[in-house]
Amino acid sequence: MTAGDERLLGDWIRIETEYLESCGLPLWLHALPHDGGLVLLDSGTSITPETSVRGRLAEARRRLEDIDLVVNSHAHPDHMGGNAALAAVTNAAFAAPAAEAEWLEDNETVISELWEANPDAYRLTPGERSELVGLFGDRVRIDRLLRDGDHLELSSGMLRVITTSGHSPGHIAVHDQDRKLLFTFDDVQAAGVPIAGTPHKLAPLYHDVRRYRSGLRRLHDVEFELLVPSHGDPLDAEGGQERIRESLAFVDLAEEFVHDYMQRHREITLRDLAEALGTQLGPYDGVNLQTVSIARAHLDDLTRRGVVTTRWRLADS
Ligand SMILES: [Zn+2]
Repeated sequence: MTAGDERLLGDWIRIETEYLESCGLPLWLHALPHDGGLVLLDSGTSITPETSVRGRLAEARRRLEDIDLVVNSHAHPDHMGGNAALAAVTNAAFAAPAAEAEWLEDNETVISELWEANPDAYRLTPGERSELVGLFGDRVRIDRLLRDGDHLELSSGMLRVITTSGHSPGHIAVHDQDRKLLFTFDDVQAAGVPIAGTPHKLAPLYHDVRRYRSGLRRLHDVEFELLVPSHGDPLDAEGGQERIRESLAFVDLAEEFVHDYMQRHREITLRDLAEALGTQLGPYDGVNLQTVSIARAHLDDLTRRGVVTTRWRLADS
């Protein structure tokens, strides 16, 4: 991050987390002081508040206990897993997308509806499942349900909620209109994020092709000087717009890939398509939540457009 970018962040406190070390991806949280205390955008995983947030706030002469509002961008464990740890030491209110409240409040629901949505193509091993539950931590009740166009009024500025509904069904971006900062969290994914210490990238994740595209186009129309993603460095206006265009270009490429794959194979399984996307479209490590989800998203889209049809048969025993 350049000194100029740092200046544009103003009084936002940028918090580096342990996630890079534990899971191979950089993860940044952001806190903004205001009269009532501190607003924290996203809470990391179950261990992030005590492992990473407390120390960084102390450097900025603030306390974890000062946090009075937590805004979760979406219901993935690296963005809301820290809620219970924060609820244990603060009186913070929790605000999150209305469309994902159930996922935010119930680990079993989010795991079964997200990770286990396509069991014929992908299943968590018992070890992966318990690791995931550990990242999620205990759940807390969401106090404020956020919808598109909502404003969070603070003494230090007005934050606008933009529902992008791309990377996850209710995903929101937060626009700091005064400082012209656009917090996009996980929604602007380009062609994926490199996973440290491996030759792989984490593939983009989305469930509905049309919604993902339209959310990205909305972000493209927002006036910002800095685009701030969760898993990487902030980008200036030009770089941010470019990253949004790269994200849209990836969807076009994936669409073309799926269409070609269907033409070559005539009949396919979701798992085979995910495997192909995960090895040929990019170094995405084969079959995983991301590749199965985008394979499914494009097949659903082609089905709704009448380009492909589905068939069922008994599984091989
Ligand atoms: Zn996410």
